[in-house]
Amino acid sequence: IFSDVKMGPTIEVFALTRRYNEDTCPEKVNLGVGAYRTDEGKPWVLPMVTQVERQMALDPTLNHEYLPVAGLPAFRAAACRLMLGSDNPAILENRVEGIQVQGGTGGIRLAIEFLKRNMDSKVAYVSNPTWGNHKTIASSAGLEVRQYRYWHPKELKVDFNGLVEDLKAAPEGAVIILHAVAHNPTGIDLTMSQWKEVADIMQKRKLFPLMDCAYQGFASGDLDADAEAVRYFVQRGFELFICQSFSKNFGLYNERIGNLCIVTKTPEVIPQIRSQMEIICRTIWSNPSHHGARIVATILDNPASYQEWKQQVMTMATRIKEMRKMMCSKLRQKKTPGSWNHILEQIGMFSFTGLSADQVRIMVEKYHIYMLSNGRISMAGLTTKNVDYVVDAIHDAIEA
Ligand code: PLP
Repeated sequence: IFSDVKMGPTIEVFALTRRYNEDTCPEKVNLGVGAYRTDEGKPWVLPMVTQVERQMALDPTLNHEYLPVAGLPAFRAAACRLMLGSDNPAILENRVEGIQVQGGTGGIRLAIEFLKRNMDSKVAYVSNPTWGNHKTIASSAGLEVRQYRYWHPKELKVDFNGLVEDLKAAPEGAVIILHAVAHNPTGIDLTMSQWKEVADIMQKRKLFPLMDCAYQGFASGDLDADAEAVRYFVQRGFELFICQSFSKNFGLYNERIGNLCIVTKTPEVIPQIRSQMEIICRTIWSNPSHHGARIVATILDNPASYQEWKQQVMTMATRIKEMRKMMCSKLRQKKTPGSWNHILEQIGMFSFTGLSADQVRIMVEKYHIYMLSNGRISMAGLTTKNVDYVVDAIHDAIEA
């Protein structure tokens, strides 16, 4: 009965990791996956996370009972405070709710599913380019997916005029997926004055902001600074959803821990929204898992642990920034064609190198340096040991 099932397209980033793992070349480098690596090229379990896991293992009050459908209350509240700031009027006025979800991905899916079922949303806009899964999540939920211009490939900067034009042409009620911070894949965010203009258009055109916040802390190293765009939209009075992921800033990639933060104008509508969200959760994962939520809540709720964790986020952000500087200066020293300013100007985990698909092919086939075909590299995969090798390869790929 399965013989007519067609092979689906490969998921590029996972296929790259598989090829990297199978590759026996000693110089191989994985710049594909968006996961933090130490300067030894190893995954990093944050020391604060290890400490909490040890305490959890010894805590006789913990058990494996089901969580509520909407997740662990302490986690949901702490996550919303981290996103909006604990003194945010929306929180003080009880106009904020959190739903525990399966990573950032689960939050986006839940948000879109809710909007389709309850708000009659029909169209979602994603930036061009964007994280590959945005389009597939929105179309799987039955929305028509359109793009708004974001990146100017020739000028290697944001195509803000294009973005404004496309948002102005969007139909009323359209869902606009915005990268709250550290845009993936370009590494370029809007300035605050650009965010203001976007907010003006969205308010006027009655567009719904769905903020995707997968990298809080990774852009500047400062969690509050990285929440600026989200907090600005809340301050402007938008009703909006924010999909928070704790995969990156807690290094809890495989715990699938996220929060869908809901901000409304009045507290009265929160129970209805929560109940509809719960119906969707119930039919997909029923109720969420406990481990990641407990870790995040324990750290965020304890001032000393919170300070230590903040330092550890800063450690990750700082190492990535240093790799940017190092890579840029080595490319310049080698006089590799291009200014390479964009590498320094970009922020967060990724750089959009500007390498063409053919140049990327040389990187992968000849040098065993795995990266996305659109030229995106994860800066976290660079180390002081492999940066020369990567720079030489880029030079060769460009000169080829
Ligand atoms: N949104 C963006 C922009 C991402 O880059 C990612 C992960 O790479 C996600 C969402 C999904 O995060 P998670 O792994 O927590 O589902």
